[in-house]
Amino acid sequence: MSPSRSAALGFDGYNGEPMRAQVLKRQAPAEEGPLVLRDTPTPEPGSDGVLIKISACGVCHTDLHIMEGDLPMRKRPLIPGHEIVGRVEALGPEVTGVSVGERVGVAWLHRACGTCRFCRSGRENLCENALFTGWDVDGGYAEYTVAPADFVYPIPEWIDDVHAAPLLCAGIVGYRALKLAIRGRGPGRLGLYGFGASAHIAIQIARYLGWEVYVFTRSPQNKALARELGAVWVGEAHDRPPEPLDAAVIYAPAGWIVPEALKSLDKGGRLSLAGIHMTPIPEMPYGLLYHERELVSVANATREDARELLSYAAEIPIETEVEVFPLDAANDALLRLKQRMVRGAAVLVV
Ligand SMILES: [Zn+2]
Ligand SMILES: [Zn+2]
Repeated sequence: MSPSRSAALGFDGYNGEPMRAQVLKRQAPAEEGPLVLRDTPTPEPGSDGVLIKISACGVCHTDLHIMEGDLPMRKRPLIPGHEIVGRVEALGPEVTGVSVGERVGVAWLHRACGTCRFCRSGRENLCENALFTGWDVDGGYAEYTVAPADFVYPIPEWIDDVHAAPLLCAGIVGYRALKLAIRGRGPGRLGLYGFGASAHIAIQIARYLGWEVYVFTRSPQNKALARELGAVWVGEAHDRPPEPLDAAVIYAPAGWIVPEALKSLDKGGRLSLAGIHMTPIPEMPYGLLYHERELVSVANATREDARELLSYAAEIPIETEVEVFPLDAANDALLRLKQRMVRGAAVLVV
C-alpha cells in the first residue's frame, strides 16, 4: 500500500478484517501446547500509535514464564510475543516521526507513563504504570500489532527481520544486565551464566568493549556457540573459572546459580541477574557477599537501552544465531526453548 493511500484510509481499511494469531487463553505446561492459532480482529492503532505488519517475532523465556504460569496472566486471552519486527502499515492521527513503510521493532516496554517519579528520574524501566508487550497488551505472535509511535525503534538497515528479532528483548534486556554488571569497572574478566538468546548477543558487546568472557552453560550446542563467539573459557555453573571474575551476569532463571556465581566472583565484583523470574535462591553464607561484592537484579529496560543496543548492533556488528519456526509452530518453539534445544534464539516468521 502506498503511503498516501494508507494515510487516506487511516486504519479503517483494516477494521474487522481478521488476522491470524497464536492466542493463549489458559496457562499450561509447554508440553500441552497451550497456544491456539485462530483468526482474531486486526487491532487498530490509538491516536499516538502505529499499526505494524509483522514479519518476525522472537520467542523469549518470559513468554514461556507467562504461558506456564510462573508469571500471572494480566490479559486474557493474550497474544504473546515482545521481540517484534515489521513494517508500519498505518498511523494514528497524532503520530509524527514515524512513516508508513518504515521497518521498526517493538520491545517489551510497550509504554511508560512519563510522569511517575521513576519516569521523571530517567528510570522508565521501573515505571509505576508501565504496560508490557505480550503481557498487558497483545504482542507479536500474530500478523499485525499496534504500539505507541514513541516506543518503536528503527532497525539497522543491514540486518534482516529474522536476525533482528532477538535484539528486541534478548538483546536489549541482556545488554542492560551486562551494562549494570560492568558499570564503573574497566575491561576485565566477565562471567556469563546460561548461554542462550541473551548471552550470545551480550558476549559480542562485552568482547567489543575489551572484556575476557567466561561462559557457564550445560547445553553442548551452546558450549560450542560460546567458543565460536570467542569465550576464553567454557564450563558449567558449578565449575570455577581459572581466575576469579570481576563481573558476571546470570541469564538462566535458576536461583541455585547465585551462590555458585558469587563463589567465582573476585572482591568488589558485581553480579547481575537478568531474568524476570528465578527459582528460589538458596541460603548462603555472608562470606559470599562480603568484600563489597554486589548483587543486582535487572527489571525491564529503557528506550535508551534499546537505542544503545541497536547502535552497538549496527557498529560491531552483532550477529544473531536464530532457529526459525513458522507462526503455526509457536508451541513447538516454546517447548524446544524449555528443553534447551534452541541454539541461539528462536524466532517465529509470520
Ligand atoms: Zn512512569
Ligand atoms: Zn523477553
